[in-house]
Amino acid sequence: MATADAEQLPFRIGIDLGGTKTEALLLAPDGAVVLRERWATPLDRGYDAVVATVATAVREVQARVPGGAPCTVGIGIPGSSDARTGLVRNANSTCLIGRPLQDDLERALGRAVALRNDADCFTLAECRQGAGQGYGLVFGVIMGTGGGGGVCIDGVVRQGPHRIAGEWGHLSVDPAGAACYCGNRGCVETKISGSGVEAAFSREYGDRVPMERIVASARAGEPRCCAAFERFLDDFGRCLGGLISILDPDAVVLGGGLSNIPELYTTGIERVRHHAFHDDLRTPILKNRLGDSAGVFGAAWIGI
Ligand SMILES: [Zn+2]
Repeated sequence: MATADAEQLPFRIGIDLGGTKTEALLLAPDGAVVLRERWATPLDRGYDAVVATVATAVREVQARVPGGAPCTVGIGIPGSSDARTGLVRNANSTCLIGRPLQDDLERALGRAVALRNDADCFTLAECRQGAGQGYGLVFGVIMGTGGGGGVCIDGVVRQGPHRIAGEWGHLSVDPAGAACYCGNRGCVETKISGSGVEAAFSREYGDRVPMERIVASARAGEPRCCAAFERFLDDFGRCLGGLISILDPDAVVLGGGLSNIPELYTTGIERVRHHAFHDDLRTPILKNRLGDSAGVFGAAWIGI
């Protein structure tokens, strides 16, 4: 039912710029999904092609806003734009690094857009309409090929003066650990992301084995995979236990492909309890509810 208030609210366009696909979402003022579409992200054709694809996605969705009503635009990217220079940093889609993506998009579109880290978008979406609903301070964790995090406080994403709030993936927990692309060694991301576990397995045993197979073989009792999976669960406990001791969030929501590993919610939580600085830790550690959709919904909610 449309209320007078809802009629004054804008439509919301969300764009999730991913490594392989760019997804667009249009939300009605009442939050209903009007449309959702995907484009291939032309990373192989470079930065200008990526900007053109995002601009096209926004224009095509904007053209379908009923009656040309006002709309906001939010874009989630795998990285963040520096608070001082506006240049993209820490993007794993490396053609974006050092580029003024927000300026270029605003110029191409002739309007303001909000640009945010995809982990922030994930966390916000889970807080608004997913597993984090009803919790005050939520830490969102992305455990996929890479790793990341976001902090949402009472429904607002905390960015911080350097826009690095939640960048837990690059907390160095092991100075003797693997070199990370950020320049540190033994970052959380090198311990508990899919690529990190696979690289550690390869260093130790000389075989490249996908994370999925490491997990499946560990369940079947294969000794090398058992050892790697045990270490993964213990690293998860140590890294998340330490984080909870710093932030003491009301809830943690896990996202990314690895969040589908059931053992994280049993053995993994036991390990977190062991490592956190409290002997009766009750922090809910929750599986996301929105799956792959969280990024694009979060982008829509951060729009301006
Ligand atoms: Zn790092």
